[in-house]
Amino acid sequence: MSLLFGNDRRGQYPDSWYAATARPLPVAEPLRGHLTCDVCIVGGGYTGLSTALHLARQGASVLLLEAHRVGFGASGRNGGQLGSGQRLDQGTLERMVGPEAARRLWDLSQDAKELVGELIVRHRIDAALKPGIAHACRTRAALDHEWAEAERLHRLYGYDKLEGFDGPGIAALTGSERFVGGTLDHGAGHLHPLRFALGLARAALKAGVRIHENTLVTGVEEGTQPLVRTEAGKVRAKAVVLAGNGYLGGLDGRVAARVMPINNFIVATEPLDDFPEILPSDVAVADSNFVVNYWRRSEDNRLLFGGGESYGYRFPRDIAALVRRPMLTIYPQLADARIDCAWGGTLAITMRRMPYFAQPRPGIWAAGGYSGHGVGMAVLAGRILSEAIGGKTGDFDLMASVKQPAFPGGVALRMPLLALAMTWYSLRDRLGL
Ligand SMILES: Cc1cc2nc3c(=O)[nH]c(=O)nc-3n(C[C@H](O)[C@H](O)[C@H](O)COP(=O)(O)OP(=O)(O)OC[C@H]3O[C@@H](n4cnc5c(N)ncnc54)[C@H](O)[C@@H]3O)c2cc1C
Repeated sequence: MSLLFGNDRRGQYPDSWYAATARPLPVAEPLRGHLTCDVCIVGGGYTGLSTALHLARQGASVLLLEAHRVGFGASGRNGGQLGSGQRLDQGTLERMVGPEAARRLWDLSQDAKELVGELIVRHRIDAALKPGIAHACRTRAALDHEWAEAERLHRLYGYDKLEGFDGPGIAALTGSERFVGGTLDHGAGHLHPLRFALGLARAALKAGVRIHENTLVTGVEEGTQPLVRTEAGKVRAKAVVLAGNGYLGGLDGRVAARVMPINNFIVATEPLDDFPEILPSDVAVADSNFVVNYWRRSEDNRLLFGGGESYGYRFPRDIAALVRRPMLTIYPQLADARIDCAWGGTLAITMRRMPYFAQPRPGIWAAGGYSGHGVGMAVLAGRILSEAIGGKTGDFDLMASVKQPAFPGGVALRMPLLALAMTWYSLRDRLGL
């Protein structure tokens, strides 16, 4: 099944609370005919838009091709959490790549948050960026790990923005009795993801990027002057960037083997004026489940809650019912709350849960597989890719040095294998292990 078209209407944003509260750009014309440019970018999410913006600022001529609308993909639908660090904690990274590279990966993750903030200010993006992500632990073992990691970040990385909470403390912060404790990361934040993506697109257009929407890329031929084919045209470029992430499909076999799409789901409740105990300080939260739940308040006082398990690529018929289940384990007081909209999106994971940066073929660059941590890292990927294409490859080489093996089972069998593994882990979540 094509994830680009299987769950969505062509050229339209999903019916999300985000789409209902964002100001879309005028629709850009599809590409027709034969064009040339310095860099051609496939995909108009954070990765593609940030790459385009950074390249255009360096003076390159840039063409961005998007199958639907800019911000159509995960970038316009996500939980909006701008987390600290990489997707893996620093202890795990130190064991995986050694202390020195782990330190540089931490520094890059700090750059990612800073870059998002800078772009919002510089381009006056109405992304409603707010501080604070709490990590709420369901078990004593998860809490011990959380506090040990906070101590490590303080001692070895000088990061002093994590505040610890015991059971009553986390209950006061979240309005839920479900957790044994946690942390609040004052250096992390949350934002309106679609408005942020649209703001990046406006900035890219202003910087001279040519954007074509409703333009499906059907093939990319490698070479010193790679060729990009679309349904109604083609582009000859000096370099091509594959920024399709979970929606990229089989456009490049090497990327497809390592970057695996998975779906995730969010609901928006009715405005919750009668529940002042839920997130009184307006922070976002993620819990310690393997199948993670995440939530925050919207500007109009709804609960935006993400979670729920579903394997296979077709969205479930009743997304609201799927997500309501974990939501009620945390907030049973919302049993009668109406759900006003529910939507799904496709992100991408890698085997080692670190992003995949590569030059899969001559003239072709790729970044993706942020494993649920792309709000910052995909934006930073844009800067890293633009620098690498311009010849400054230090950060790209560091990210690419975290090798990503292909998923076992190949493109056909990896989803059933993942479903099997996830069923096991979600059982553990339910048993509180
Ligand atoms: C429900 C959900 C919640 C999430 N929550 C968080 C969160 O809270 N924090 C966090 O850090 N991350 C989160 N993520 C992940 C995050 O959204 C992604 O990592 C990030 O948006 C990836 O950006 P991207 O530009 O690489 O991909 P996308 O935003 O998916 O963009 C890819 C684009 O490429 C286009 N495209 C693909 N193939 C083609 C083609 N052949 N031709 C033309 N165009 C093509 C697609 O149409 C799409 O618009 C979440 C994801 C989802 C789905």
